[in-house]
Amino acid sequence: MNSKTEEVLRKDIRKSYNNKLIQKFINAGLEEIRACINCGTCTGSCPSGKRTALRVRSAIKKALDGDESILKDKDIWFCSTCYYCYERCPRNIPVTDMIIKLRNIAVEEGYILDNHFDLAYNVFYKTCHAISAIGENNKKWRELRESYDLPSLPPTVHSYPEAVKECQKLMREVKFKQLLDKIKKKKKKDNKNIK
Ligand code: SF4
Ligand code: SF4
Repeated sequence: MNSKTEEVLRKDIRKSYNNKLIQKFINAGLEEIRACINCGTCTGSCPSGKRTALRVRSAIKKALDGDESILKDKDIWFCSTCYYCYERCPRNIPVTDMIIKLRNIAVEEGYILDNHFDLAYNVFYKTCHAISAIGENNKKWRELRESYDLPSLPPTVHSYPEAVKECQKLMREVKFKQLLDKIKKKKKKDNKNIK
């Protein structure tokens, strides 16, 4: 290899190590991403990829290249976290953890599917349950419980308004609520810009 080629390669490697996206993986302890040899075993093993447009090798390649368009890509949300790719990767790259990290970064940047946002904001934050038992939609279920002489709500957070407040306080302390507010603002702005 001549010195010119070596210099170009070194520059490219430096560039990819320094880009914001890969730096976030390294900071999260996922630096094995740099060992990817693009063999495609992860894509070939992926059951979600057989039914959706998710191509996990290509998602990793984009992350490695620092291509931030991957954060807006709906496909990263099709991973079912089954860990097949993780188990089969010949370079021991924690592929599933990377997909989860990609999603985390995407959400930090305000990219989240509407349904997920709705669940986080209108269900999880408001009721402190991932699946809420309150609300008109669950009326039949509550009536069914009562028909068996059970209280309409099980003795979980729903039944204790003080506990709901505590959970919400916790979500504010860890800045989860602030993140949701930021995303809400962004979504409003993006929708306004759609003509
Ligand atoms: S299986 Fe591992 S080495 Fe192969 S493309 Fe996927 S992440 Fe890269
Ligand atoms: S963990 Fe996700 S990306 Fe990996 S094989 Fe399963 S569905 Fe596909």
